[in-house]
Amino acid sequence: MFFSNDFKSSILRVVFVSTFTTLFAFGAQVSQKRWQPNQSFSEYLVDQKIPLGILDMIDKDDAQFLSEIQSDSVFYELYDEKKGLLQVLIPINTEMQIHLYKTKEGFSFDIIPIDYQEKEYFAAVTIEENLYNDIVRQIHHKKLAARVARSIKNAYDSKRFKVGDEVALLYTQKTRMGFIYGMPEIKSIRIKSQKKEHFIYIDQEDQQGYTDTYKNEPYTVTVKEKVTRTKLVPVASRNFTLPLRNARITSPFSLRRWHPVLKRYRPHHGVDFGAKRGTPIMAIGNGTVSFVGSMRGYGKTVKINHGNGYESLYAHQSSIRVRQGARVRQGEVIGYVGNTGTSTGPHLHLGLYRNKRPINPMSMISRNASAPSVLKKITRYEDVQKTLYKKVPIKNATKNKEKLLEALEQNRPVYIWEDFLQKDQSKEEA
Ligand SMILES: [Zn+2]
Repeated sequence: MFFSNDFKSSILRVVFVSTFTTLFAFGAQVSQKRWQPNQSFSEYLVDQKIPLGILDMIDKDDAQFLSEIQSDSVFYELYDEKKGLLQVLIPINTEMQIHLYKTKEGFSFDIIPIDYQEKEYFAAVTIEENLYNDIVRQIHHKKLAARVARSIKNAYDSKRFKVGDEVALLYTQKTRMGFIYGMPEIKSIRIKSQKKEHFIYIDQEDQQGYTDTYKNEPYTVTVKEKVTRTKLVPVASRNFTLPLRNARITSPFSLRRWHPVLKRYRPHHGVDFGAKRGTPIMAIGNGTVSFVGSMRGYGKTVKINHGNGYESLYAHQSSIRVRQGARVRQGEVIGYVGNTGTSTGPHLHLGLYRNKRPINPMSMISRNASAPSVLKKITRYEDVQKTLYKKVPIKNATKNKEKLLEALEQNRPVYIWEDFLQKDQSKEEA
C-alpha cells in the first residue's frame, strides 16, 4: 500500500452522517490515500486481508468499473478506534465511487454516487507579486488561482496590475469529506486598481470573463453572394489529343509531297506516325464512329465524327475495335497499328477534316497529355457561409455582481483553505 507522509498527517476526526451511514461511528478516523499505480481492486482486497469471494457479489455490468480506478486518484479509508477497517471509498470517475464496507458476516461492496457538498466562498487578495502566486499564498487554493488567471485573461490585461491592487471574488467549490473536490466555479470578480473599479462578469458555461454583461456569440448564416473565380477552361479550338502513346511523326501533313510508293507528287492529307504493328490507336476526341471498313489506299480505316464539322480518320490498321455508330471517348482504343492499304511499313495515318476539307491534324492537337486550357474569370452567385455575431446576455451577470458587492459591503471574512487540503486536489487541471 502506498502511504504518503503528507496524507498520514492529514487523518481527520470526522462525524459521518452521509455516505458512512452503514456504520455510524463517533470517533472513527478517516485516512486519505492515493491509489497505487496499476494496482488492481483484487490486489487491494488481498492487502486488506478481505476474501476475494466478495467479487462474486457484483453485477456483471458493474464489474468493468472495478478496472477503471485511476492510478493516483484519491480514496478514503475509514477505521474504527482499534484501527480496524470499516469502510473504503474509491472513485471511478468524478461522480461515482466504489463503496466497500464491513458487515456482520465480513465485507460487502457496491457502486454509489460520490457525495460532495458545494458552497459559495468569498476571497480577496492584495497584489504583492502576481495574481496567481498571491492567490496561492493568501487563499491556499491552487486551482482557484489557475481559474482566476484564466478567467481574467481576455477581460483584463494582467500587466496593468500594480502592487497594492485588490482582487475580490465569489466562487463555489465542491468538497468531499471536507477536502477540495473538483474545480472551483467563479461567479464574479472585482479588480480595484488605484481607486478604479473593474468588474469582470463570468460566463458560467465556460468560465470566461467579460467586461460587460453580454458577450458576442458567433453564429453562421448562408447567404447568396456574387463570387468571381478564376478557372481553367479547355480551349475549344485545340482540344484533340495524340492518337498514340510515344507518338513519332514520320511524315507530316502536306498539300504536295513525293509519294515513296506511288513515286510521284501527291498531297498528304494527314500525319503519319511510325509505330510497331499492334500499337493501340486512341480516339483523338469524343465522338461517334462514322465509318468502319476498308478504303482504297488507306486499308482498314475508322472515321470518327467529333461534331462542329470535324471528322478524324485512322488508316492502315491491323485490326479495328469499334463498330459504326459507337460513341467513343477521347483516349479510347479504337484499333491497332498495322500495314493494310498502300503502305511501306506499319504506321498510323491520321487525317483530320473540317467541313470535309483536310486540315493539318497537328494544328488541332495538343502534345500535352491533357487538353490545353486557359485561365478564365467566371462570375456567379454562390452560397457562402458567413460568421456573424449577436449579443447574448451572460447568465446571472448582474445578480452575481450584486452578490459580490454585498459581500464586500458586509466585509465578509475571506475563506482561507487549510494547506493540507491542497494535497487532495484531483488530477483535473484548470
Ligand atoms: Zn499517310
